[in-house]
Amino acid sequence: MSDTIQAAFYHGDRTFAVKDTQAQQPDAGEVAIRIAYCGICGTDMHVFHGNMDARVGFNRIIGHEMSGVVSAVGADVDHVTVGQKAVVRPLAHCGDCPACDAGHMHICHNLKFLGLDTDGAMQEIWTVPAYTVHTLPDDMRLDHAALIEPVAVACHDVRMAELQPGEDVLVIGGGPIGMLCAMAAREAGGKVTISEVNQARLAIAEKLGFETINPKETDPAAAINEKTGGKGADVVFEVSGTQPGVDTMTACAASRGRIVMVAIHAVKPQIDMFQFFWRELKLIGARVYEPADYEKAIALVASGAVDADTVITDVSPLADIQSAFEALDQSPTALKSLIKVGETL
Ligand SMILES: [Zn+2]
Ligand SMILES: [Zn+2]
Repeated sequence: MSDTIQAAFYHGDRTFAVKDTQAQQPDAGEVAIRIAYCGICGTDMHVFHGNMDARVGFNRIIGHEMSGVVSAVGADVDHVTVGQKAVVRPLAHCGDCPACDAGHMHICHNLKFLGLDTDGAMQEIWTVPAYTVHTLPDDMRLDHAALIEPVAVACHDVRMAELQPGEDVLVIGGGPIGMLCAMAAREAGGKVTISEVNQARLAIAEKLGFETINPKETDPAAAINEKTGGKGADVVFEVSGTQPGVDTMTACAASRGRIVMVAIHAVKPQIDMFQFFWRELKLIGARVYEPADYEKAIALVASGAVDADTVITDVSPLADIQSAFEALDQSPTALKSLIKVGETL
C-alpha cells in the first residue's frame, strides 16, 4: 500500500517546490503522523537563506515545529495509537557515545536533527522513530500544538536556570524564543522583564503583560537596578545572539546571577569575563530539550500559560510555503508563522 502525499522540497537558492511524493510506511519501531501544522523556525529561515546547504542538501523536506494525528504505527510500538494527537521531539540519538551513556541523549555526539539531517514535517505524512513521539490531550488545538517544540526549548532553558519563584528575570531579545522563555519563566514564578529593540515586538511583550526595556532608549542595567533595588537580575536569558546582548547580560546579572546562553552565537562575541570573577556569575549552556521539557511544554500550552493566539501571527497553506517564507523574511511584525500542511480531522 502506498499513499501519494504533498510535500515541500527545499531546492536551494531560497526556493521550495511543492510536489507529490510517496508517504513512507512505518517500519517496526516507527510511527506515521498526518501533519496538521508546521511552524517556521529561525533554523528553517537559515536553511532558506542558504546558510545550511552543506548540511541539508538540495532535495530536503524541512520542518520540525509540528503537530498532527497518528495515522499508522509499525510493529513493536505500544505507547502510541492511531488517531491520537501528537508532536515529535525531533532528535535521533546514537545510543552509543559518551553523552548517550551519561543519559544526555539530547546532546549526543552524533545527534541527528529530524527535519534538517533527515526529511521533516513540511509533508502531509511524516514517519519518525516512535521514541520521538509525545501524545497530546484530545482537546488541544493543533495550531496551538505546533508551538510545543519551541515552548520545549523555553522549558529547557528555565529548567537549566533552576529558576526559583520570586526571582528577577531578564530576557534579552523578544523574538519567538525570547517571548516563550519569558512566558515559561513567568509560569515558574519569575518576575520577568524583556529587553528588545523592535517596536512591534515590544508592543507584543507589553500585550502579554511583561515589563519591557528598549535599550535604544534606556540603559538596561540602570532599568534593572532600579527595578530590583540595585540587586540586578537573578537569571538572565541571552536570546539575542548579538554583541550588545552579551554586554547587557553581564551588566544586568545580580551577584551570583545565572546567565543562560540560549542564542546561537555564530560569531565569537567579546565577553566581560571580569564580571564572572567579581560577582561570581555563572554561565549555563542550554541546547534543545529532553523528554521532561516536552511534557512540561505540552502542559503549558494546554493550560494557556503560553498565549498561543498572540504568538501565532500568520498561517499559510502548504501550497504557499514559498511566499510564507518570503513574507516572514521581510516582516518586522511577524512572530510565529505556521504552515497548515494538511487536513487531519
Ligand atoms: Zn525550531
Ligand atoms: Zn550518542
